[in-house]
Amino acid sequence: MRYLENKERSTEILRLALPLMARQLAAFHPLSYALWYEHCAGMNPDLSRVLDSRLTSNTALTEADVWRLYAQHIAARDMEAFERLQLQLRNLLEDTAQSAATASTQAAEFGHSLEGHAEVLANPQAPEKIREVVADMLAGTRKMQSVTQDLSANLRARTNEVNALTESLRRAQSEALLDSLTGLKNRRGLERAVEDLLREPPGLHGSALLLADIDHFKVVNDTYGHVLGDKVIRAVAHVLRSSIKGRDVAARLGGEEFAILLPQTSLTGAAAVAEQIRGTVEKGRICRPDGNESIGQVTLSVGVAIARPGDTLEALLERADAAMYAAKRAGRNRISVAGDTAVSVTAAFQS
Ligand code: GH3
Ligand code: MG
Ligand code: MG
Repeated sequence: MRYLENKERSTEILRLALPLMARQLAAFHPLSYALWYEHCAGMNPDLSRVLDSRLTSNTALTEADVWRLYAQHIAARDMEAFERLQLQLRNLLEDTAQSAATASTQAAEFGHSLEGHAEVLANPQAPEKIREVVADMLAGTRKMQSVTQDLSANLRARTNEVNALTESLRRAQSEALLDSLTGLKNRRGLERAVEDLLREPPGLHGSALLLADIDHFKVVNDTYGHVLGDKVIRAVAHVLRSSIKGRDVAARLGGEEFAILLPQTSLTGAAAVAEQIRGTVEKGRICRPDGNESIGQVTLSVGVAIARPGDTLEALLERADAAMYAAKRAGRNRISVAGDTAVSVTAAFQS
């Protein structure tokens, strides 16, 4: 994770960042906050150099400046790790190609010298000449043996390095799709899963999306601290992971908000999964940081939406989100189905 500051430290950064942001032309949105946050946290020296010089020259940042600086100094950094790995791979391949080229030049030279010897031996020769040819062939053969041994050792070493790098690349790519706190997919991971679904008929149509948000989570954080808050998030993630199967995907979208994609699932099936998750979380117990006593009940409000033909992930998320807020309004700790005019369906499962 990029931001490891605790609540106190991040509040301090917020206090420093706000007045600086206020001096710019760009609006107060997350991208522009990311710039000033990283600057005030002292975690991005290159970006700070640019911002310092803008502050000194009193040139306010426009929206376009913010987008450019964000792309250059924040988004681009995520790509750097991949690019480093790719460069290492390319260098390795170039080295290997060079070794192979050297070996093949020497093999060609050896071939020519063998042809020369064959020509000499085509005519009757004095024993001394024959001895000379044989000695020459032996020396050439030994040289070739050593060249091919070097090449094969070189290739073996390179193959191991390429395998290790490929594994690092695979790990880095899959980690980029995971949420580091819970190990669930992150938003990008969920988007990738939807892209996979869209590649074959019927696409997203007929899939269900659940959007779950922890109720009154701010109280947990404020009462017991951020560390326990994180523990609660991980415990909920564990319930989600245990409640899905097959091609289902559970993701943490950020904060205390989760999404579960259930490919080809009916409304009844999806509502049953949502209700099972809600019920399991409600029954769970989490201990206080100082002992065995548990904190109060943790509950979830869950919105359920079914994808219509031509739906995008955004559209589906929006409907699930509206349903989730309907569940909040209806009293929390319940599930609500999109388009259901905010009526909780929890009661139907309890009867
Ligand atoms: P509601 O029932 O309406 O959802 O209320 P809420 O308190 O859960 O919602 P609100 O959005 O007001 O608070 C969410 C809190 O989650 C605020 C923020 O401090 C906290 N939070 C966000 N991300 C993290 C995180 O990664 N770890 C922890 N511990 N807390 C987080
Ligand atoms: Mg909440
Ligand atoms: Mg929330």
